[in-house]
Amino acid sequence: MAENSTPRIVPLRDARPRHIPIPAAAMDASSRISADGSLRDRLQRPLRDLRISVTDRCNFRCSYCMPKEVFDKDYVYLPHSELLSFEEITRIATQFVAHGVEKIRLTGGEPLLRKNLELLVAQLAALRTPQGKPLDLTLTTNGSLLARKAHDLKAAGLQRVTVSLDGLDDAVFQRMNDVDFPVADVLDGIAAAQAAGLGPIKVNMVVKRGTNDQEILPMARHFRGSGVVLRFIEYMDVGATNGWRMDDVLPSSAVIARLQSAMPLVALEPAQAGETAQRWGYADAGGRYDPALGEVGVISSVTQAFCGSCNRARLSTEGQLFLCLFASQGYDLRSLVRGHLDDADLASAIGHIWQGRSDRYSALRAGMPPDHAQGAKRVEMSYIGG
Ligand code: SAM
Ligand code: SF4
Ligand code: SF4
Repeated sequence: MAENSTPRIVPLRDARPRHIPIPAAAMDASSRISADGSLRDRLQRPLRDLRISVTDRCNFRCSYCMPKEVFDKDYVYLPHSELLSFEEITRIATQFVAHGVEKIRLTGGEPLLRKNLELLVAQLAALRTPQGKPLDLTLTTNGSLLARKAHDLKAAGLQRVTVSLDGLDDAVFQRMNDVDFPVADVLDGIAAAQAAGLGPIKVNMVVKRGTNDQEILPMARHFRGSGVVLRFIEYMDVGATNGWRMDDVLPSSAVIARLQSAMPLVALEPAQAGETAQRWGYADAGGRYDPALGEVGVISSVTQAFCGSCNRARLSTEGQLFLCLFASQGYDLRSLVRGHLDDADLASAIGHIWQGRSDRYSALRAGMPPDHAQGAKRVEMSYIGG
């Protein structure tokens, strides 16, 4: 927690939302939507990216995500029977892929806590897009179990990983993870993932002003030229328990200015449509991008909304479909896969839900009152998946 601010944690016992009914038209055979990749939401955004949360549990207590005061020993996590099974996840994911999803990211909570995760990875790795291409299959992890699991995940078909690391100094990192977890073990996990071929590896650092922003330059120096792409993420007002305040956000523009003061950077083009990170390349002595030094990125979720190109859906641990990271409710797909629907019905339901989507929270945030995070009934990131 920032030393210069008073912690303002909202003690919610159960931040899990109630679900939104599946649109009635989805169940009507005469208005069936078939999966042919042409699906668009109300703002003409396609569906290309699916994040799947495989557990709501975590072995860290990052203050910005699962503050200890809320996620304590009395917190009730989902029982196993409530979780989607690997077969249910794969069945749902198959329909998303038929609708045009090309990228799947496993997340959580801490995804590597889910037992036998490599079995799910193998099932998802076998999926193909309608054009016959394999998916971009990746996973976001806090790295704590990565050294142990990297090899098996690669063997199961995982392509790459993103590792979260909020600083190189143990005291700072432990203040962020709040469970005294050492930096060296995460770095070992990153090295194991590199050795296993799970690259290009990305490292995500959430920047909280006054708490870990002194780690920006050491992190950049450490990963420059290592083949790892470091990305700085603005601290977001996601969920309703982290006591978010705009004062704790260090804008990406300030991060870039700080980096530029120590090492020259040049702006790079986005690698693909809908990319959330702005890319910057490290420059050589002549001021030109030097691929050997690599690149850094900034994700400006607070100061520069990217809702206009947001093509991402999120499937929660218990099978609720969320259309936005800041949604308060999801659509209960689990009831559909546990009911008597066939795959075409399931695809049609997903199609109707996506067609009705008009979410663009970040774009609207600027017009909201400053303390809008307080008391909001937003879903927690550890439940929906980051
Ligand atoms: N436990 C895994 C991890 O930490 O990588 C995966 C789940 S975590 C919710 C996914 C990502 O969300 C992490 O990179 C984390 O730093 C980021 N995150 C969580 N809360 C955030 C917040 N309030 N603002 C910005 N990023 C956040
Ligand atoms: Fe756990 Fe990841 Fe949330 Fe940290 S950010 S508490 S590691 S789920
Ligand atoms: Fe997408 Fe919602 Fe984030 Fe906008 S606020 S970029 S719609 S997840």
